[in-house]
Order: sequence, then structure tokens, then C-alpha cells
Amino acid sequence: MTVYNFSAGPAVLPNEVLRQAAAEMTDWHGSGMSVMEMSHRGEEFMAIHAAALRDFRELLAVPENYKILFLQGGGLGENAIVPMNLLGRKPQPAVVDFVQTGSWSTKSLKEARKYCTVNIAASSEASKFTTIPPRASWQLTPDAAYVHVCTNETIDGVEYQFTPDVGEVPLVADMSSHILARQVDVSKYGVIFGGAQKNIGPAGLTVVVVREDLIGHALPICPSAFDWKIVAENNSMYNTPPTYSIYIAGLVFQWLKRQGGVAAMEQRNIAKAALLYEYLDSTGFYQSRVDVAHRSRMNVPFFLHDETLNTAFLAGAKERGLLQLKGHKSVGGMRASIYNAMPIEGVQALIAYLKEFEAHHG
Ligand code: PMP
Repeated sequence: MTVYNFSAGPAVLPNEVLRQAAAEMTDWHGSGMSVMEMSHRGEEFMAIHAAALRDFRELLAVPENYKILFLQGGGLGENAIVPMNLLGRKPQPAVVDFVQTGSWSTKSLKEARKYCTVNIAASSEASKFTTIPPRASWQLTPDAAYVHVCTNETIDGVEYQFTPDVGEVPLVADMSSHILARQVDVSKYGVIFGGAQKNIGPAGLTVVVVREDLIGHALPICPSAFDWKIVAENNSMYNTPPTYSIYIAGLVFQWLKRQGGVAAMEQRNIAKAALLYEYLDSTGFYQSRVDVAHRSRMNVPFFLHDETLNTAFLAGAKERGLLQLKGHKSVGGMRASIYNAMPIEGVQALIAYLKEFEAHHG
């Protein structure tokens, strides 16, 4: 049976990548070693690391004046690491503007309160995080240290379909759940970060893209291993990086290039999401509650009109190889995550099952 994994993360990886990793598991390129066993300072791993950095720069079209850092700590770790690195540019206590659009931006602003004064410049909490507040409604602070946005809310299923203009203040974006899934004008951002475990590779690796002039302003309390200046000066090798995660990420980057890069993936992601939302909108049996203009192409929360059928729905899905469709507990219902590595056939199989279940229970 073909299995399609709709997990929000850690999430599906390209089959080709997993097969290659399996083939190379005990002996990488004749080295006699698994990548897991290599010194991060040895020539073999240094080559893997350099290629991954180069391919990521090419895929996201990262300009020369930005550093790419391969860190640990995950998306949540960055909620502390970002303020510790950026606040030193301003007299303390500094103000940071947050746009609150769901669970992840809410977590980010709560963490930041340990380090700075948080201004919620706009919030969609009143509408249960089903929309993105229009840029014109944001109440920004003129001398804020930075503006934080989460450009794809993995749990709530809202995604920015625009790049906010915040003037000279650095824009910081948590792109954990759609990085490399759509084209981005990196030059519009001061910092972009993301945990790897959705569109990039296994958990453990956190990618940070930061404009060079924003490096070197860490607060004295910032741990050295997370001080972007130290990390950048040591080419992300100040401490032991998550070597195996970087290796798999590198294989995913090569796979993405073979698919035609981010532009081609974006077109596929548009097509996959359109197919699923079109079906959900065509029936009263299921429902998407997210504002049409801000629906995520990656994470599609949906509800059965009769929620007493949820258990039967999930059991039937599992029998058909459609895995991990249960919605996040804070939202309920179902959620289909359809990242880069989810083929259109997976979305078609899900729609076929949605129809079948409706025919039996509708
Ligand atoms: N931000 C977003 C948008 C996420 O989706 C997640 C994880 N689902 C996080 C942050 C937290 O990442 P981590 O679990 O790697 O700390």
C-alpha cells in the first residue's frame, strides 16, 4: 500500500532522499564511515556542509550580504536567540513589534517578553487566528528593535501572501513551515529562520539567514553557541553542528534542484493546495474555516461538519495509508500538511478518501 504522510512535522521526506541515505548509511562515498560517525572538522563532513550551504543559498537566492547559519535550538530556541542577538542595537529595554497571527507568533512574543518590551502591533486573535491583519492596520513602533512575523502558522493554517513593508526596521520572519516552499525576496527581511523538520530535513537543524549588519549586537547574556557573530565567524562550526541533519538537508537541497528549484516547487504547491481547498469548499460535509485570502498552501486544517465522526474518519484514513491527519489539539478537527515532499498523488488520494467517507456518512 502506498502511504502518504500528512504530518505537520517532523514530516514527509522525498523517497529518493531516504533511499540515497539508506544506501550511504554505513559507508559514505567509500569513506568507510557513516556520516554520523564523522568528525565535523574532517574533510568529508566539511565538504557535505559546504555543499549544503551553497545549495541553500542558491535555492533561496540569498544575497551575498546575508549569512546562512546552521544552528541547533529549533524554532522555539530562536524565539530567545533572536532577541538576544538583535536587542543590543538599541538602548535597553528595547521595544519589539509582533504581529500575532496564531500559535507560533504567540509563543514567540511570550518568550520575547523575557528580554524586551513587546508591542502587539496587530492581532487576529479575536477571529481565532483565521486571517492575517492587513498591513495598513499594524500599529508599529517607530524605533522598534525589529518586527517579528510568522509567515506561515503551522497550527492555524494561515500564510502571508504578501511581504510586509516595515520601512527601515528589520523584519524578522519565522518561516519554519514554508521555507523553500515558495520564492522569497530575502532582501526584504533582516532575519529569516526555520526549524528543518518540515521542508528541509530531520529535526535538530535550525537555519538562520541574517543580514550582515545585524550581526555583532548580541546582549552579554547570549550564550556563545547562539551568538550569531561567533557562529558566523566559525562558519557554523563553533560547536558541533547537527551533522546528520545537515547531511540529509543537503540531500533534500539536491533533490529540490533536480525538481527545478523553489520556483517549480511553488507552482506545485499552489496546484496541490488549490485542489484540496476546492474540494473542501465544494461540500458542506467538510469545512475550512480560514479566510480564503490567507489560507496556507502548506498546512490545511479542516473540520467534519459532524465532529462525532472524527474517530471513524481517522481510522478509515489510516487503513488507506493516509497518516497523521489529526488536527492540533488547540484547533481540533483535521489537518493535512502538504509540504514540498508531498506529491500531488497524495493530495488526490486524500480527496478520493474525503469523497468516499462523505458518500458513506453524508
Ligand atoms: N515556528 C513554527 C512556525 C513551527 O511550525 C514550529 C514547530 N512546529 C516552531 C516554530 C517550533 O519549532 P521547534 O519545535 O523546532 O522548536
